[in-house]
Amino acid sequence: MRSSKDLIPKFVALSQLREKIQSQYDIIKERSKFSDTNMFEIYFEISEKDAALKDLFDFLGDDIHDFFKCTRVNFLKPKEVPQLHYAPTSSFKFKGKYTNAEIELPIKIYRSDKHKCIRCFKYTADEENQICPYCKTYLPEDFDISKALKSM
Ligand SMILES: [Zn+2]
Repeated sequence: MRSSKDLIPKFVALSQLREKIQSQYDIIKERSKFSDTNMFEIYFEISEKDAALKDLFDFLGDDIHDFFKCTRVNFLKPKEVPQLHYAPTSSFKFKGKYTNAEIELPIKIYRSDKHKCIRCFKYTADEENQICPYCKTYLPEDFDISKALKSM
């Protein structure tokens, strides 16, 4: 079993990282019309060899995007560029400490190139006024979203 002593450095590093990202969200909101953080995708740039950082992110599991209040969290290899329609909305570095090592983590925030899902409100749908692939798994196969909307 993990002792709580092992968990504290993780919580500290992750909450500092989240604070840094939150302050970038605030900057973006101030200078653009993007007010919903669900519009954002975060890209962390980490090298394959960085076991400590991988361990830190693995700790958050599948809920990692909820932790950072964005639509999706992605990982890039150093110098890798994501194939998206938009330029990054914000590009910065997180500097902190984890497991007694200094962390320098390059982060980019992109506006998602997907549409707002009408079920979960995340920007994960392929088309406007549609349900995203994740939410589709919760609905019957013959469910017709346009009919459902008209009957509302
Ligand atoms: Zn959805």
